[in-house]
Amino acid sequence: MIRNTIRKIQSLPLWVRIVCALLTVILLCTAFFFFGKRFGARIENIVNEEVVLSTDKDPKWNAPDYVKYEPIVKNEYSRPGTYLSEINGIVVHYVANPGTTAEQNRSYFNGLAVSKETWASSHFLIGLEGEVLQLMPLDEIAYCSNSRNDDTVSIECCHPEADGKFNDETYKSLVRLLCDLCREYDLDPLTQIIRHYDVTGKLCPLWFVEHEDDWKALLTDVAAEMTEYEAGES
Ligand SMILES: [Zn+2]
Repeated sequence: MIRNTIRKIQSLPLWVRIVCALLTVILLCTAFFFFGKRFGARIENIVNEEVVLSTDKDPKWNAPDYVKYEPIVKNEYSRPGTYLSEINGIVVHYVANPGTTAEQNRSYFNGLAVSKETWASSHFLIGLEGEVLQLMPLDEIAYCSNSRNDDTVSIECCHPEADGKFNDETYKSLVRLLCDLCREYDLDPLTQIIRHYDVTGKLCPLWFVEHEDDWKALLTDVAAEMTEYEAGES
């Protein structure tokens, strides 16, 4: 059968064989170009997520205006799309990368979809200027707090130095965000806000592990802000 076909092709005039060969080459080039472009567009979409910033709010909670909703792309390394079982607490972290911005850390989490180097993310990132980014809806799990991933919300904070101390802007936004989340999910700030350290013993957030008094002061500040808010409402 194959031999017959080859014989038939060989019996064709030379110019017909050349035209057929050219047509085959053109067809293959078009197919490569078309599928290559589609594949490239998929990768580009993932990368461009970094700069496509949403102005919408996450409808899963009563998000305040200062929270910028910039969801990262869904992927198994940083946003698996798995639902939280419930919200029983909030876990505070530090990024452990002194001087980096919230956007840089967001890009890192988003880029894990492509780099696949590890599993990591958080629900919120607070930057050095006090900016608050939300990276995924609050009914999905983030990869941040180990055994508490499936029932807590996580907040990563930027810090200027290696000691992990938050500057005033970051600290103020953290207190505000913790207050709003505790009100939203009816959490007790003194017992249901915890450090990553309280889950695994990891030195995170470093400053608040090494300065227990400052950690207690943070919780007290959140409780005071909640009381103030409620007094203002009544
Ligand atoms: Zn941590």
